[in-house]
Amino acid sequence: MVESFPWWTEENKKLAKDLETFVLNHYEEAERHYFMKKFPHGILNELKELGYFGAGVPKKYGGMELGATGACIVAEQLGRLYCVGHCFTVSMLGGLHQLIEFGTEEQKEYWLTKIAKGQLGAVCITEPFAGSDAANVYTSAVKDGDEWVINGKKRYITNAGTGHRYFMYIKTSDDPKDRAAYRHLSTFVFERGTKGFSLEKINDLIGFDNVPNGYLNMKDVHLPESAMVGEQGQGWEIMMSGLNFERMIGSAGVGGSLLDAARLLHFHSQRRIQFGKPLKFIENVSFTLARLVARLKYARLMSFYTAYLLDLGKQPIIESSIAKWFNVDWAMQSGIETVQAMGGDALTRFYPVERMIREAKIGQLVAGTNEVMAYLVYRVATSMAMTKELETPFRFKMDEEAGYPIATLDKGPYVEQEATSELVLKILAEDYRVNPSLYMMIDDIKKQCKGSRKKIREICKELENNGLVVAFYDRKGEIKMVKANYKGLDKAYPPEHYRWFPDWYDIERDAFFG
Ligand SMILES: Cc1cc2nc3c(=O)[nH]c(=O)nc-3n(C[C@H](O)[C@H](O)[C@H](O)COP(=O)(O)OP(=O)(O)OC[C@H]3O[C@@H](n4cnc5c(N)ncnc54)[C@H](O)[C@@H]3O)c2cc1C
Repeated sequence: MVESFPWWTEENKKLAKDLETFVLNHYEEAERHYFMKKFPHGILNELKELGYFGAGVPKKYGGMELGATGACIVAEQLGRLYCVGHCFTVSMLGGLHQLIEFGTEEQKEYWLTKIAKGQLGAVCITEPFAGSDAANVYTSAVKDGDEWVINGKKRYITNAGTGHRYFMYIKTSDDPKDRAAYRHLSTFVFERGTKGFSLEKINDLIGFDNVPNGYLNMKDVHLPESAMVGEQGQGWEIMMSGLNFERMIGSAGVGGSLLDAARLLHFHSQRRIQFGKPLKFIENVSFTLARLVARLKYARLMSFYTAYLLDLGKQPIIESSIAKWFNVDWAMQSGIETVQAMGGDALTRFYPVERMIREAKIGQLVAGTNEVMAYLVYRVATSMAMTKELETPFRFKMDEEAGYPIATLDKGPYVEQEATSELVLKILAEDYRVNPSLYMMIDDIKKQCKGSRKKIREICKELENNGLVVAFYDRKGEIKMVKANYKGLDKAYPPEHYRWFPDWYDIERDAFFG
């Protein structure tokens, strides 16, 4: 039974229950298709007829209007039907969120009704020379009268060939100013059958056994203005918005595979007897199952929380990146640990654990690699979303009574004094006592005395010229941080000021002060 979340609506809960029944009824068929490397047209057609492709599509366009949460519920359940799950997920990425956010009314009318009816779609970002560096696309669109003429290639495109709708990010400007402002890309959507648009190659991968993934070629493809989604130059913004959705829905699919791994290990560990008892009584094995359950819980919570934020109209860049990054890492780790806990059985293709590892490896690379996720989380957290939260409100000072540095809201003894070179050197020397290896930022000094940043920088420059501090400069050539050097420390205080020994240390016997 699918565990629901307290914020799910009754419709969400019903959707999850219906989907679970659908999955159980089609599991065998999906597995047969997987082992025989056949595309599951039949199951996908049934899903189309039941309207599940429309889970995230507004009712006005023939969908169920269950938002990002609805799309995640479908992705999570269908994720257990292997190829079916991949095709559904990628089809949603091929424009659902982007068209709802950026499409014109005519585009919504045309495309969203098709998505709701189950038209398979593909999202086309990657090219031979543009992988993680997704802005570096070579495929170009040039204006010719009322039309755009597209030339180029896309690669690693899931649903290539089987997809009817292709949602593409294409270069519309070579102006370095547009490139610098990420305004050089635009978004286009068009269908197979368009003249000059062809399938170039299907990849034979270590995963995606019956999931088509390949290269596309565009040779003088003529598209009307109406094929452009959003404005010219808005492609990067649309791509980023689409990727939040992509990472969230991809992470939801991982929840399904974690559940299946936990179920399989539970099944196996109850029935495999070694040393006269079932494996489940061996702590290594039961703790592995405990870790799978813990990861499953975290993974689902993160995916559905991210979906909830999207449904509230937010752009959860950090949350969707974390969901994608951690969920697939956990799937990888869980696959490896499940093999260990099941022994040789798990290495045969009679059990689907080896598949989980291959799929998780793909997951660590697609939709932005996990390294790119880490970079995104770092950059967005430190320069936008969490700048205030990450700033420590404390100053660290040596507490003479406790004998250790402690965090304090107290701004220190000099807060009412005007900054002078002597005072700044004292502040730097005090900081050396508690943070001996760190520089002080200009703002750290500013918080402890009176004076503008400009004035404190000038004082620091003077101290540097006098050989008393070491300065670190930013790219604009301004002093950003300073620390007192040994000469500066000597000038600020006598050597005994810096001494510190733990209680247990025998100063009388072992210390020396020349
Ligand atoms: C099975 C599969 C399905 C896919 N489906 C689609 C699809 O439907 N549509 C689509 O557009 N694309 C798709 N892709 C492409 C996928 O998104 C890219 O593979 C991915 O973005 C990484 O690009 P790359 O493989 O060229 O690796 P590269 O970008 O060459 O990266 C190689 C290594 O360098 C690291 N690296 C690169 N730059 C940085 C950086 N700045 N900081 C830290 N590390 C860095 C990467 O993390 C990685 O470890 C798919 C790929 C696969 C394998």
